[in-house]
Amino acid sequence: MTAIQLMPDHLANKIAAGEVVERPSSVVKELVENCIDANSTWIEIKLLEAGLQRIRVTDNGDGMDEENTKRAFFRHATSKIQSEHDLFHVRTLGFRGEALASIAAVSRLTIQTSQGQEAGTKLELAGGEVRKEGKCDARKGTDITVDELFYNTPARLKYMKTIHTELGHITDVLNRMALAHPEIKFTCKHNDKELFRTNGRGDVLQVAAQIYGMNVARKMIPIQAETKDFRISGYIAKPEVYRASRSYISTIINGRYIRNIVLNKAILEGYHTLLPIGKSPIVVLNIEMDPILVDVNVHPAKLEVRFSKEKEIYDLLEQTIRAAFRQQTLIPKVENKP
Ligand code: ADP
Ligand code: MG
Repeated sequence: MTAIQLMPDHLANKIAAGEVVERPSSVVKELVENCIDANSTWIEIKLLEAGLQRIRVTDNGDGMDEENTKRAFFRHATSKIQSEHDLFHVRTLGFRGEALASIAAVSRLTIQTSQGQEAGTKLELAGGEVRKEGKCDARKGTDITVDELFYNTPARLKYMKTIHTELGHITDVLNRMALAHPEIKFTCKHNDKELFRTNGRGDVLQVAAQIYGMNVARKMIPIQAETKDFRISGYIAKPEVYRASRSYISTIINGRYIRNIVLNKAILEGYHTLLPIGKSPIVVLNIEMDPILVDVNVHPAKLEVRFSKEKEIYDLLEQTIRAAFRQQTLIPKVENKP
C-alpha cells in the first residue's frame, strides 16, 4: 500500500480553487469583495475577453505591507477573523482566507499594493508560486491583475461558455456589488468599452438608474421596515416593469449580496397577483441584522445563507411589500396646481 501523505500546498490550493473559482465572475466577485473589506471608496474593474484573458481590479483601500502581501496567498490566511467567536460575528465580506490562494493557483497573478507612505510591494505568481518580487509606487491601495485564468486547469477552461455568457455573469455580479455599495465609486470596463460607472454618492436609486436605466428607476417605490431583529430598506419596482429572470432581484444582507429562495419567495408573495405568472420584479433590498442571525458559511462562494429566524424575515418582507403597494393605490396623488 502507498503511504498516505499530506498534499503539497500548491496541489491542495488547485483542488480547493475548483470550489471558489468557478468562472471569471467568481474571480471578479472575490477581488471586489476584498477591495470593499479594505475600506475602498473607489474600485476600478477592467476586463479583457470577459475576464478569460485578463481581470484587473484596482482599489484605493488600505493596501498591505510586504509581509502581509506574501501571507495573503497562503490558504486559510486572513486578517478578518481570528477566533470561533469572530466566525459567528462576521462583518466583513471575506473571512475564509481562500480566495487569493485559490485564484493564484489557477492563473498568472500580479499584485501591487501599498499603504501609501512608502514604496509598495509587487509580486508575480504563476500557478500559485511566487516567480518575481519587487517594488511598486507608493500609491495607496491594491492592484491585482489575473491573466490567463485556468491556464493550468485545461478541463475547467474547456467548460467556459462564450464571451457573451461569461460577461453576463460578471455584469450580474458587478451590478449587485454596486447596488449593495452605493457609497463606493465603481468603474467597469470591458475591452476598453465602459460597462457602467457609479458616482459613489450613496444613493441606491441613482445606482439603480445607472444600471437599469432611468425609466426603471422612475418606477421604483421606496420601502422601509424595522423590527427588533431586522431593518429593511430599498426599492421595489412597480409591477408593470417586470423581467423574465430572477437576476433582477438583489437581496443584500449586511452589505453582502446573496441568493436565497426564501427571500425571493417572500418578495414574490409580496407582489402577490400583481405580476404576470412566471415573471420577476426588479427589486433592491438591503436587510441589516445581527450577524449571529445569519450563517454565511454555507458554501465557499458565500452566496447562500441560512437564517435562524427565517419565518420572521419572510413575513416581514412580504408584508412590507404589500403595504407599500397598498399605500400607492390608497393614497390619492396630490395634484400640483399652479
Ligand atoms: P479573506 O478575504 O477571506 O480574508 P482572501 O484570500 O480573499 O481571504 O484575502 C486574504 C487577505 O489578503 C485578506 O484577509 C486581506 O487581509 C488581504 N487582502 C486581499 N485583498 C486585499 C485588498 N484589495 N486590499 C487590502 N488587503 C487585501
Ligand atoms: Mg476575500
